[in-house]
Amino acid sequence: MSKVKCRHCKEKIDKENAFSPREKLYFCDQECYRRWRQTDDGQLDALLDYVWKLYSPSKQTSSTYIMIKKQAEHYHNVEGFKYKGMFLAVRYYVEVLERLWCDDYGLGQVFPTYYITLQRMYEEQKALKEKLKSTTKSKDKVAIGSHNIIRRKGLSLE
Ligand SMILES: [Zn+2]
Repeated sequence: MSKVKCRHCKEKIDKENAFSPREKLYFCDQECYRRWRQTDDGQLDALLDYVWKLYSPSKQTSSTYIMIKKQAEHYHNVEGFKYKGMFLAVRYYVEVLERLWCDDYGLGQVFPTYYITLQRMYEEQKALKEKLKSTTKSKDKVAIGSHNIIRRKGLSLE
């Protein structure tokens, strides 16, 4: 029986019993796969797998794959971008903005611009949530007065 290595825990396992979400990718079980998805390696793989499929079949060559992998690693290691965030940024570019993927270019058509855009949007959203949280809190304080409590009871559906 041929043996394969679990991509996550590196355990040697029987190929027949391995969990394989796709070709040449093996895990002990779904749990190892789930954990791997949270790691840098797993998130980079998800990014590359997604980007890879954006290219037309004639461009799906090993040199294209190596190029986008190198680029992704560069943005991660040098610019400090998170793989998960990059994945979201590419999806945002393609699925939300509905931009066409240009076969002649790599990740440069999305990064760094859209990573930064998305990061800014995320931070604005977070700030907005914090703001809403604090205004709700101050409203609660106002409502402490007995008058407000009575009125609140009147509004209750109980
Ligand atoms: Zn494993």
